[in-house]
Amino acid sequence: MNIHEYQAKGLLRAYGAPVAEGRVVLRGEEAKTQAGALDGPVWVVKAQIHAGGRGKGTFREADAGSKGGVRIAKSVEEAAEEAKRMLGRTLVTKQTGEAGKQVGRIYIEEGADIARELYLALLVDRASSRVAFVASTEGGMDIEEVAESTPGKILSFSVDPATGYQTFHGRRIAYALGLTGAQVKQCVQLMGTLYRLFMDKDMEMLEINPLIVTTGGDLRCLDAKMGFDGNALYRHPDITELRDTTEEDPKELEASKYDLNYIALDGEIGCMVNGAGLAMATMDIIKLEGAAPANFLDVGGSATKERVTEAFKIITSDPNVKGILVNIFGGIMRCDVIAEGVVAAVKEVGLKVPLVVRLEGTNVEEGKRIINESDVDVIAADDLKDGARKIVRAVKGEKA
Ligand code: GDP
Ligand code: MN
Repeated sequence: MNIHEYQAKGLLRAYGAPVAEGRVVLRGEEAKTQAGALDGPVWVVKAQIHAGGRGKGTFREADAGSKGGVRIAKSVEEAAEEAKRMLGRTLVTKQTGEAGKQVGRIYIEEGADIARELYLALLVDRASSRVAFVASTEGGMDIEEVAESTPGKILSFSVDPATGYQTFHGRRIAYALGLTGAQVKQCVQLMGTLYRLFMDKDMEMLEINPLIVTTGGDLRCLDAKMGFDGNALYRHPDITELRDTTEEDPKELEASKYDLNYIALDGEIGCMVNGAGLAMATMDIIKLEGAAPANFLDVGGSATKERVTEAFKIITSDPNVKGILVNIFGGIMRCDVIAEGVVAAVKEVGLKVPLVVRLEGTNVEEGKRIINESDVDVIAADDLKDGARKIVRAVKGEKA
């Protein structure tokens, strides 16, 4: 789960990390009061969306102005004007995709005078199964681009969980970032704070881009992005409260209500599969046959007819889906339950695209009978490869 920059800065502030004073604005009428509660001489007005690259982004609507999603204002009035201009408008950045994201919240912050922009991140490094630090002198830029063109400018190392964060970790980062004097001490302390916050809240990633050195010589977190491990949210009600469902894919949101493991993708074949491993194998084999999956969906081992029906409805509600492949290996999950779910869903929402079903395992005969006796127009498949081939051919208008 991701949160907004202003929420991430709230957590940073609570842990004693250096961030500027700021106020969130949800409605245009509040903008002036909120900006007025902050000191100038410069106010930074920032669109809050769960995507980076806002500064270089552009708004769809002309009345939002030609500047990006991060704007500098020289007065309270100007800050309030910029906030109102951006609220409700659609911001398109490198990370939002073409559709962009509607701005529902604005953060106004006391502006900083920047001497240097640095990059800092913590993340779970799956290769070493440890928490890793990533630091670079090239802050404020796209870190993927830095990694591509000047990988030598990125320092990365992981922390041994047995010792946890140690001051030498912080000094190593400070030297790599070219910090001197009191900044080294600030850096050592800040890295320790970030590590503690990361561990306390079960984060998946924490990115400060840029971490700045102010003209006064102090470190400050100018931007903040945080992602949390969804499986650990049950023990962090304070974090769960920060969820902004308007930022999430509506299909994924609907799926989460029914405990379905669903992730929207951008291909054309909708998949309904049981078991994460089989779901991934199904996606792979669809690619191998020359098409792309529209989603990852694991209906799980204990799915009921109702959940299967909901899953099917979510898949068919996606306008990108040009064909559906149901691939079930009945172990704990019974094939007849899946069959009943598919038939019920088709009855409810209809079927406008080809449907290939491959059933195997527990109660397979009963499952096939349910489907055959229904009037659902199904292409039967014998195995995984056969199923993938048939759905790809059907979608491409070729003969099965
Ligand atoms: P992003 O574009 O979504 O990553 O948003 P950021 O919060 O990183 O802001 C983008 C850029 O705006 C930063 O890299 C800075 O150059 C600039 N910026 C943000 N806040 C301030 C500020 O307080 N003062 C100044 N002078 N520039 C700022
Ligand atoms: Mn940034």
